[in-house]
Amino acid sequence: MDKTIQKIVDDNKCTGCQLCYNVCDFDAIHIELSSEGFYVPRINFDKCINCGKCLKYCPIENDLSDYNETINVYAAKSNDEETRMKSSSGGIFSELAKEILKQQGIVFGTAFNENNRLVHIDIDSKKDLKKLCGSKYLQSDINLSYKKAKNYLADGEKVMFIGTPCQASALRNYIIDNDNLLIVDLVCHGVPSIKVFGKYLKYIFEDEKIKNIYFRDKQEEGWKNYYINLVGEESNYKKSHRKDPFLYGFLKNLYLNKICYDCPFSKIPRVSDITLGDFWGVNQELDDNKGTSLVIVNSNKGQEIIDNLILNRKISVNPSDIISGSKQNPRVIDGNMNIPKGREKLFKEIENLTFKEMDNLFIKSPKKEILQYAVKSIQTKPIVIFGTGSGGLKVFDEVKKIGIKEFKYFVDNDEKKEGTIFCGKKIYKPEKLLLDKKDKIFIIVASFYYDEISNQLINMGFREDVDFVDGISYFL
Ligand SMILES: Cc1cc2nc3c(=O)[nH]c(=O)nc-3n(C[C@H](O)[C@H](O)[C@H](O)COP(=O)(O)OP(=O)(O)OC[C@H]3O[C@@H](n4cnc5c(N)ncnc54)[C@H](O)[C@@H]3O)c2cc1C
Ligand code: SF4
Ligand code: SF4
Ligand code: SF4
Repeated sequence: MDKTIQKIVDDNKCTGCQLCYNVCDFDAIHIELSSEGFYVPRINFDKCINCGKCLKYCPIENDLSDYNETINVYAAKSNDEETRMKSSSGGIFSELAKEILKQQGIVFGTAFNENNRLVHIDIDSKKDLKKLCGSKYLQSDINLSYKKAKNYLADGEKVMFIGTPCQASALRNYIIDNDNLLIVDLVCHGVPSIKVFGKYLKYIFEDEKIKNIYFRDKQEEGWKNYYINLVGEESNYKKSHRKDPFLYGFLKNLYLNKICYDCPFSKIPRVSDITLGDFWGVNQELDDNKGTSLVIVNSNKGQEIIDNLILNRKISVNPSDIISGSKQNPRVIDGNMNIPKGREKLFKEIENLTFKEMDNLFIKSPKKEILQYAVKSIQTKPIVIFGTGSGGLKVFDEVKKIGIKEFKYFVDNDEKKEGTIFCGKKIYKPEKLLLDKKDKIFIIVASFYYDEISNQLINMGFREDVDFVDGISYFL
């Protein structure tokens, strides 16, 4: 019987956490980049003695669900304005790291290397903290970090490790209990393909050297409308996450690792001591658009360090709960999401496609010409809005500001809404659209299920970006 992790890889369940590579005593595992652009272990069966150690530790095989219980949930922020503005959310990671470094400990986190690859590194000094700060929307190369962390602990050092929930679970499986180890994980949307990112950088910078990559720049328009900021040797690229094609495709879940669509680690309770995320939808009185963290405390050890930061006035917290923290952030509690239709096709063709071709065919990020066309259509044709949820309301408000020629009606797939009134207009079934002449109306889709609705409209004979547009992408 095969006792290796091969089945995990064959079943597309591998997270790329690299723990198997760290634990194999026979040098039989190495890590490669898969054809889709994710880290994956490969076994050299000439060296493998089928001892089963890799599978025994693999976090996919070992469910530690009962390891912790959620103790407390907070909306939190660093009291240091500069730290907060440099961080993706409320800067809680940096405050935790500063505390560990003050206690002469070691902090593991991610940084870009000279080839723009994201790697886990360890630091022992505050001057290096800026390298780790900020979310990087890529899969990191853990390399031998788990082994290194174990060696530091064996030498009596304090260690803090931050990573995605699969990486945190891997480390917990490897080092089940050690008072000197603090594990912090993130709320995790999933990791996008390193290959897609490489093509994107080439598209933006061609051969220009890239000096810095910031995925979550708050300087332009604050925490909620964050910008990607790429600093080249000669030029600079900045774009809102709502318009940048790489982030647009990432947030549409188009090129995530396969396991991220069915993530077994995005749930409560977590195996880490502390979980950090964005507190999207935090109470208005706490929201200054500079970033608020969601902090979930999962162990007494986690509570102790958070209490210490509160006592020493390093952070401010407001008690909250999982329901509030996950309302606009499903990955806090739920690892499941639909795989977009384009994903398989995109990866099938990835070798032959430039990033621009990928954008045109699959990502379909908002384009200036289409926005101009949509604005003109709204001002010259009667419009219909497809979608009557919160998206419909917001899009309706925005297009009113542009100046509508005539608003006809709303449509919605929810049969229960048929005939009811929304924003002063009647809601119809989508079939109503067929009663209008196609070139006499302009449809604005205002739903987070754009892909499904777009297919539905195409099947009804409407043309994307001609007869209808994605209202959420273009107008919010
Ligand atoms: C791929 C990814 C997806 C995410 N998805 C969500 C989400 O859906 N909802 C949500 O609320 N929050 C998500 N987050 C977390 C969020 O973006 C912030 O990182 C988190 O709130 C911590 O913010 P902070 O201000 O405390 O610290 P920051 O200064 O932002 O520090 C973040 C820390 O995380 C580490 N880190 C950054 N990128 C990676 C990476 N790719 N792999 C491993 N470790 C990394 C860094 O080393 C740094 O130490 C995600 C983060 C990543 C990396
Ligand atoms: S230990 Fe991690 S990298 Fe290895 S097979 Fe399991 S999930 Fe994949
Ligand atoms: S079964 Fe043992 S020898 Fe073979 S790859 Fe796994 S850990 Fe290495
Ligand atoms: S979504 Fe799950 S499997 Fe994917 S990177 Fe995040 S924690 Fe790992």
